[in-house]
Amino acid sequence: MRIDIATLFPEMCETVLNESIVGRARKNSLVEIVCHNIRDYTLDKHRRVDDTPYGGGKGMVMQADPIFKCYQQVCEIIGTKPHVIYMSPQGKPLVQTRSMELSKFEYIFILCGHYEGVDERIITTIVDEEVSIGDYVLTGGELPALVLTDSIVRLCDGVLSDSECFEQESHFNGLLEYPQYTRPEVWQEQQVPEVLLSGHHANIESWRKEQSLIRTLNKRPDMLENAVLTEKDQKTLKYIITQK
Ligand code: SAM
Repeated sequence: MRIDIATLFPEMCETVLNESIVGRARKNSLVEIVCHNIRDYTLDKHRRVDDTPYGGGKGMVMQADPIFKCYQQVCEIIGTKPHVIYMSPQGKPLVQTRSMELSKFEYIFILCGHYEGVDERIITTIVDEEVSIGDYVLTGGELPALVLTDSIVRLCDGVLSDSECFEQESHFNGLLEYPQYTRPEVWQEQQVPEVLLSGHHANIESWRKEQSLIRTLNKRPDMLENAVLTEKDQKTLKYIITQK
């Protein structure tokens, strides 16, 4: 997979993308991520990429042409049209299932807006999808692009040691993950649940499933409406509800 990120702050993106699991995935060539400075694509001698909005109003708007030139160069390099995502508070909220789908794409181009956003015509010309990371407004699209990239890259083949790492995590199967513990066995007089020390895999698995259901019911009951539950899970859930 290759992800191109068009931004006014490539260094900010590089700093984050060179760390931790994503950084390792890049080093091991499991994913290629290229950050482009949109200013490199302007013909303006002061490297300006924004202007005042037509019709008046506060703030500045990013011009379409430098973004389009950046996009065109990426198309030329990869020899095809990438899937173009504009990070926007007006987009569809990001969810795990969408990150999973996007992790199967070969080429993704992410556009980060700034100021008041981008000229609408670049959206209608190149953008396939607008993605939001939540119902609030940030200064720029860089943090959202990094969130999106991280959520996609960790799902790509070979990036995590085992797909089980994410298959048991919150949101993968519509539930929240069970509680986790590590050494020591007792910390501040709090004991790790006995079952986790038993070595009995079936019991551990059913305890974790039950905890996962309890957590989802307590923290995010809305998720249970769409969760895919086995008959056994449904029975366990009914039992948990009666015990509440
Ligand atoms: N004027 C725009 C509006 O009201 O829809 C908001 C512009 S915002 C200050 C600047 C840029 O930050 C946006 O173009 C977008 O790329 C990014 N951004 C801000 N909040 C975001 C969010 N919740 N999700 C994704 N991107 C966001």
